[in-house]
This record gives sequence, C-alpha cells and structure tokens, in this order.
Amino acid sequence: MLNPIQISAKSLGQLALANFCPKCFWVRLHCHDKFPFAIFPGIFSSIDSYSKKVTAAHFATHGRVPRWFDGFGEIGVPIKVPHWSKFNVVDKSTNITLTGMPDELLQRRDNSLFIGDYKCARYTDRADELLPMYSVQLNVYAYIAKQTAVGTASGLGLLYYEPAAALPASDTDDLIKPEGFLMRFTAKVLPIPLNVKAIPPLLARVREIHDLTCAPAGREGCKDCALLEALVAVAAQGVQQAELLQRNGGR
Ligand code: SF4
Repeated sequence: MLNPIQISAKSLGQLALANFCPKCFWVRLHCHDKFPFAIFPGIFSSIDSYSKKVTAAHFATHGRVPRWFDGFGEIGVPIKVPHWSKFNVVDKSTNITLTGMPDELLQRRDNSLFIGDYKCARYTDRADELLPMYSVQLNVYAYIAKQTAVGTASGLGLLYYEPAAALPASDTDDLIKPEGFLMRFTAKVLPIPLNVKAIPPLLARVREIHDLTCAPAGREGCKDCALLEALVAVAAQGVQQAELLQRNGGR
C-alpha cells in the first residue's frame, strides 16, 4: 500500500509552472504541503471572502450575478460551495487525496457547472506567469466536482479584481470618508479551457517525486539555492572550528 499523500488543487498546479522546481516540491510534499516558515498575508483571504460576498449580495438584490460575469456567457445561479473536507477525491492508483475549495460554483440552466476563481491581481495583456497553475487549479475543481457528484463542469474562468492604482481628484469625496477610505477594484474575466485529462498524469508525477528517497536536484541557476549552499558551507566550517577548539581543550 502506498503512503497516503494529500495535496491541494493549487499545489498540484505548481507542476505546470515554467519555473517548477522538483526539489522545492519534494520538500513541500514532505512538509505535508506547507512550508513551516511561509507566511500568507491574510489580506488576500479577506479580499477573496469579500469578493464572494459582492457576488452573493448582487445576486440577492438583483437576481443575477454582476455584469462583469457576462464575459463568460450565460453562467446561471450561484450554488453553495462545499467545504474542502467534503470536496475532495482519493486517486486510487496513487493514493493521493486531492482537495480544493472553489471560490464560486454556478449552476447553468442545463444543470452543468461554471467554476470561477477570484484573483486579487492585475491581469495585463502579457499573460500572467501563474496562469498554468491557475488553469490546473480550476481543472482540479472540475475533476473533484464530477467525482463527488456535485456536477459536471461546462466552463471555467478566472476573475481578476485589480485594485485601482490612481486616485483622481474628482473622486476624492466619493472615496475618502471621515471613518476611512474606499478602494476601487476593476474586474477582468478570463475563460480557462476545460482539460481534466491533465490531472491524472500530474498525480502520477507527484507520487514519483514524493517517493524519491532524497531531494532531487534543484532548478538550475536558482540564486536562493546557491545562497543556501553557501550558508551550509559557512555553518560546516564553524562546526569544524568548534570541534578543533574542543579537541585542543579550548586553547
Ligand atoms: S533550486 Fe530554488 S526553487 Fe529549488 S529548492 Fe532550491 S531554492 Fe527552492
């Protein structure tokens, strides 16, 4: 029986990045998909949570999602997103539990699903370099939705909410209030192709990397690893000197 592995949709997506590093990924897998010293600024979770409330509030008031969703065509009505503890699948051939929690699930008239994910980031014409990761992330949601009988996805999409960079003088009174200030976000939507067939080979690759008895080589030319190696060499030198001192009775 293979050792169980649990991995999130987003972490699986890292395998698709152009600068993917098998060494980093091996370490991450052996830290149970979390780096001990990683800090994720809470503000992004707050903005994601607020974005969901914006969609829900608009639907409650107007009976439809906001107009910027129209870029995806007809996408239906928001439905409850299951908690990740229910929205997961175990891949039997690799014994990997794949988890996720989409930001938005919408049910179309034909009962198929549209799955959306919010990104508080700028999307320029120059493609977002994280796009391959986001594409896997959304396809994992489609894969889990199908296998957990939540529904069959017929569309996927990213919603980039870009914070305003400029503060026109004419908006001063609208945005700056006695109790605080408002910040505008502009929505840009990007449909993502459905490709759930890409998921099983990625799971096989996770199993392959996980089961290596030691970390594979890192990404060639990575400055961070070069710094770490230099640090390890300095530390080793320090240990040698301390041992020498001890042998010489501290003289
Ligand atoms: S090569 Fe870079 S990315 Fe890979 S493990 Fe080393 S520091 Fe991390």
